[in-house]
Amino acid sequence: MNQPHLRDTQTSQALRDITEALGAIMPETSKSGIDVEIGKRIARFSNLDKPYSRTLIHLVRSGNKKPSPSFAHAVMAFAYSLDDMDPIRARSKPVQVNAAGKVQAGSIVLADSKPCAYPPCAIPFVPRVPWQIYHSPDCGIKNRKIIKRGGNK
Ligand SMILES: [Zn+2]
Repeated sequence: MNQPHLRDTQTSQALRDITEALGAIMPETSKSGIDVEIGKRIARFSNLDKPYSRTLIHLVRSGNKKPSPSFAHAVMAFAYSLDDMDPIRARSKPVQVNAAGKVQAGSIVLADSKPCAYPPCAIPFVPRVPWQIYHSPDCGIKNRKIIKRGGNK
């Protein structure tokens, strides 16, 4: 308390607001998981290649570490962006995929993946239409041959 130079109450408060907002959006995520996510998202506002550590997030939020100016700036930019953040976008998370169609990096994929219904394939894919069960026409042809022969024996 008697070390005011360690404190940046505006950044600490913004981090508490961000923590609360992300906690509401990602209720299944642990507290440390939320801090990891905050570190990733704040880093996007400061042109950093790697995320800020969850330890740094924790220390600045609790007022036990004075943030660098670039960190403080990135926190405020993120806090302001939260006010008009699209909830679907906020809930989305990056995953690696193998795109066969034209999928732009960073796209929001709204559909769920499912495994190909041809058992030897079973590769997960995001269907073009909800009723699609095979990842390719070839898997459909092969599976229908198995079914004709009387099942997978
Ligand atoms: Zn398949």
